[in-house]
Amino acid sequence: MGTNSVLIVGSVALDSVETPFGKVEKVLGGAAVYSSVAASFFAPVCLVGVVGDDFPEEHLEFLASRDIDMRGLRVVPGKKTFHWKGAYFGDLNDAHTIDTELNVFEEFRPELPAEYRSCKYVFLANIDPDLQLEVLSQIESPRLVACDTMNFWIERKRAQLLEVLKRVDIAFMNDAEARQLTAEPNLNRAASEIHKLGPKYVIVKKGEHGAVLYCDSDLCFIAAPYPLYEVVDPTGAGDSFAGGFMGYMARTGVINSRNLRRAVVYGSTLASFNVQDFSLNRLRSLTMDDINRRYEEFRRIVHFEPAE
Ligand code: AMP
Repeated sequence: MGTNSVLIVGSVALDSVETPFGKVEKVLGGAAVYSSVAASFFAPVCLVGVVGDDFPEEHLEFLASRDIDMRGLRVVPGKKTFHWKGAYFGDLNDAHTIDTELNVFEEFRPELPAEYRSCKYVFLANIDPDLQLEVLSQIESPRLVACDTMNFWIERKRAQLLEVLKRVDIAFMNDAEARQLTAEPNLNRAASEIHKLGPKYVIVKKGEHGAVLYCDSDLCFIAAPYPLYEVVDPTGAGDSFAGGFMGYMARTGVINSRNLRRAVVYGSTLASFNVQDFSLNRLRSLTMDDINRRYEEFRRIVHFEPAE
């Protein structure tokens, strides 16, 4: 694999989602799907996951059309794809899980194609931390490893999640997850606690309030939220953020504070587009020009003059 490929493992899903703006049934979703498509704007992606034979062919074609290597995606005959059913009521930052059917993920044991093992950038997107660990143990010498998770796994697989955190460079968490994991209500302190568990960098995503990057437990960058006036479906915001972030880091190949800050803004840019429509619909027609234009708007809205 090219040295700038991003390996991504996580859920590949059919999602049923209800928001105040509409309702969709069994549409393309999953943490690995959102993050892979977002990352693919910047770098080649190697996807690791599993689906059942109910997963529509058109979704496989869409992913393949985006420079996403699918040799690590297993299709299990006679089984059903992971299905998540969620709803957002008044507060679009707050996803309510109505049902999680792990289906094919219950028995999945990832085995990486030989070509994937040399990937230098790894994103362990949201899925059972046992699977995240299995993938990690098959990678030869990664340069940058990041992980994400959610309340479902914090509650059910805490010990394994702590093991994952010991082994990653970057932890992505949303504000509620950071508080839940550390039992610390203050987010700056929660980030310090997560840093103590292993990751050098902690990125706290605050939904419509932006994102914060902590380096060695110090706050080092705050990304403003993009001022959207219509959020249709927040599903996948965190994943497209992380995918955009990792894709950009892989593309630069240089891990320094300037690039980490840019990556946070590219991540925020991808997330802001993603929430403008259901499923991955907005990302399907997105161009690099759209991304760079919005990146510049992010810069403009936070610019201010030095003190006099
Ligand atoms: P987010 O970026 O947090 O909005 O992630 C949304 C995606 O997470 C959806 O497309 C779901 O399919 C997926 N998801 C929901 N629950 C789980 C879970 N327990 N494990 C892995 N993925 C999940």
